[in-house]
Amino acid sequence: MNIVVQKFGGTSVRNLECQCQVMQKVLRPYREGNKVIVVLSAMSGETNRLLSLACEWAECPDPAEADSMVSTGEQISCALFAMLLKQQGVNCRSVLGFQAPVRTNDAFGKARITAIDSESLMNMLQEYDILVVAGFQGVTGDNRITTLGRGGSDTSAVALAAALDADVCEIYTDVPGVFTTDPNMCTDARKIDRIAYDEMLEMASMGAKVLQIRSVEFAKKYNVTVHVRSTFSDEQGTIVTQEDETMESVLVSGIAYDKDQAQITLVHVMDKPGVSAQIFSPLAEKKILVDMIVQNPSKDGKTDMTFTIPRADVKQTINTLEKLKYEIGYEELTSDLNVSKVSIIGVGMRNHSGVASRAFRALADENINILMISTSEIKVTCLIEDKYTELAVRTLHEAFQLDKGPVEKP
Ligand code: ASP
Ligand code: MG
Repeated sequence: MNIVVQKFGGTSVRNLECQCQVMQKVLRPYREGNKVIVVLSAMSGETNRLLSLACEWAECPDPAEADSMVSTGEQISCALFAMLLKQQGVNCRSVLGFQAPVRTNDAFGKARITAIDSESLMNMLQEYDILVVAGFQGVTGDNRITTLGRGGSDTSAVALAAALDADVCEIYTDVPGVFTTDPNMCTDARKIDRIAYDEMLEMASMGAKVLQIRSVEFAKKYNVTVHVRSTFSDEQGTIVTQEDETMESVLVSGIAYDKDQAQITLVHVMDKPGVSAQIFSPLAEKKILVDMIVQNPSKDGKTDMTFTIPRADVKQTINTLEKLKYEIGYEELTSDLNVSKVSIIGVGMRNHSGVASRAFRALADENINILMISTSEIKVTCLIEDKYTELAVRTLHEAFQLDKGPVEKP
């Protein structure tokens, strides 16, 4: 039995007309004799509507009840789509998370998939040719409905593809694939043909919304090839897959940015063992994600500690650290909300030097000041003034000639 997994996002199922287009995509592999697993999101806007309903009813909605309600968005789109297919004479049924079942832990609102009963799905596939599976939802060991976090249908689809050993998981969306950068910011952005899991993870963690980050982690872990493509055309999209040699010969694959950043500096902390732990442990306890951290060289046994956090966490961070001012022993706390991160990403950086300096030169030529720098094996990130984000993205995109196709190593 050959199984094809296809996932369609909210804009692809938003009305009857779009669902009819989705049906054409689904009927193709079906007519070629494959069994098809169709994973659907809620109609676009529906999840937001349901979430705000919950917030209207309760100041702090019970997470389990919220999941029970929010998961109905996917229930509706799946049932409607199954009706359309049945009308075409297809032997199919809708399958909700608890019916599959997709087992998760009990972290309501952000549950993690723990197991998928592939045997039960295989049995259903003996009986039906197409299963229309609700994305985003699962069920706990004691049968409570859970949801997987925003964008979670991507993860449902990849997990199903992994469990059923499908060759590829097709993610259909309203854009033609993954781009070298945000096309809204840079009109020269180009669709990427192939991208490595690690690069996609970096792009997604910087806010490229085309795939939920967890779905990429899943795909990498279980080696599922993901094909991101448009519902509304037949064009090839972007293949997200294992790294290979051709990818390594490309220096930079994409430019990502994150405007949701703030910079905090603790001026003149003591330069002695334990101080970093004193600063960052209380933030970790509050689940504040600290990203870039720079400690300046010590002068007279004192140093400045600068780091970045999501903008939404500024108040909590300042409150937390001000309470510990005496304990940590810093002189002053400063914050800057007008900063953003711009990154160049590429597995090719692992083996090639000069990528960072080329980026710094390009930014300097535009008079863009770099406030902080951090690097990983496959990423160079610069913190800059917020107002230069667009210019920096365009400048770096051009510097690495991403508009012209991948830049090969010299
Ligand atoms: N409907 C959910 C959301 O809007 C899940 C998804 O679409 O992937 O986040
Ligand atoms: Mg999505």
